[in-house]
Amino acid sequence: MTEGKELEGLRQEVRGWLDANAPRGWRESYDNHEAFAQSQREWFAKLVEGGYAIPHWPAEWPGGGRSLAEQKVIYEELARADTPRLLLSFVSTYHAASTFFECGSEEQKARYLPKILEGETWCQGFSEPNAGSDLAALKTKAERKGDVYVVNGQKVWSTMAQYADKCLLLVRTSSDGPKQAGITYLLMDMKAKGVTVRPINQIQGDQEFCEIFLDDVEIPVEERVGEEGQGWAVAQATLASERGLTLMELSYRMQGALWRIAELIRKNGLEEDAGVLRDFGHLVTRIDCTCAIADQFLQNRIDGAERVGDASLVKNTYSRVLREYSLLGTRLGGIDEQYQAPITFGDLNTGNWMADFMNSYAWTIAGGSEEVQRNIIAERMLEMQREPKDWVAS
Ligand SMILES: Cc1cc2nc3c(=O)[nH]c(=O)nc-3n(C[C@H](O)[C@H](O)[C@H](O)COP(=O)(O)OP(=O)(O)OC[C@H]3O[C@@H](n4cnc5c(N)ncnc54)[C@H](O)[C@@H]3O)c2cc1C
Repeated sequence: MTEGKELEGLRQEVRGWLDANAPRGWRESYDNHEAFAQSQREWFAKLVEGGYAIPHWPAEWPGGGRSLAEQKVIYEELARADTPRLLLSFVSTYHAASTFFECGSEEQKARYLPKILEGETWCQGFSEPNAGSDLAALKTKAERKGDVYVVNGQKVWSTMAQYADKCLLLVRTSSDGPKQAGITYLLMDMKAKGVTVRPINQIQGDQEFCEIFLDDVEIPVEERVGEEGQGWAVAQATLASERGLTLMELSYRMQGALWRIAELIRKNGLEEDAGVLRDFGHLVTRIDCTCAIADQFLQNRIDGAERVGDASLVKNTYSRVLREYSLLGTRLGGIDEQYQAPITFGDLNTGNWMADFMNSYAWTIAGGSEEVQRNIIAERMLEMQREPKDWVAS
């Protein structure tokens, strides 16, 4: 597919800007959590300045008003230049902002959107120990007392919550009727009294996400988004905010990181090894296909021809191929590589192969587990029958 002149012009503009401004050596600078957070903040500020941080926001915002096709070009170029992914500000610029644009009051928009551009960070407090795939089963309780809600409960897996200023919080205000009906959406100050954040130690040494404990936390009523009991509908705006760009960007990043495997093959003198070359060729093809599927998915969106289940297909393909990529790296990297200190801060292509391999599993769960995506593909895309209830293990 050839690209129109305008998109090609934008591509050259972004490429030129990145040549001059993309940070170098950022992976090496991520040797402790503070350095990681500082580096992320600086890169976000630079992107805001350059006009590439919020292409999906409306046009009245600096750098906003880009079409999906233009956003695609920007993310392709960010991936090509191997810039740091915006892990710290992702929830703020996508989930929080989209929630405000679609469901927030004018006062909430005016208060929070400018602060996001100044670097205020948000986390997402949706999942709970017994409410993940079945999010509507959440139990964190909020009781209205005058002008505040008093909140008690626990959230889990909140990405980067240890750095967050604010939290998008789903709570239960009623247990009557269907479980979706009693959910309310609140905006919580992470410094409020009664909020305890405990980072979770991951197997590969990172602390990418946290538990959040809420003990009589008071949240003013004006920090509610939408009406009481209407939080499920607001949450759909939050969850739908990112429209497939991440998976496309990640697929391109994986393709761009193939050199790491090629380098391992050279380093180990395996250029003539037929088995290794076959596995490498197989991987290159699988990654090319992943990029093509992600591309097609976005193109369908741009053309208004998206099919139910398309996003699930891309996500499951990406997470599976990412595992194959890091597994081949782990196999060829050898034991010495695998003992390197593996702090990755959510970067999936570090070359710390064992860490990258373990990290790859995150994508089989985050944003909806692999099995749940398969259900969507089977039931909604292929229109297969739902499995009878008594097949499901109790
Ligand atoms: C990297 C990462 C970042 C995350 N960030 C956040 C965040 O910032 N904020 C937040 O709120 N949450 C976050 N999450 C949580 C994420 O949304 C949940 O982990 C996810 O929804 C799955 O829920 P669960 O972990 O409770 O697993 P469960 O829902 O308990 O699932 C356990 C297993 O059962 C399977 N299963 C469940 N239901 C079905 C079904 N109907 N059919 C077939 N199989 C089923 C699942 O596939 C899985 O294998 C994050 C998770 C990850 C991995």
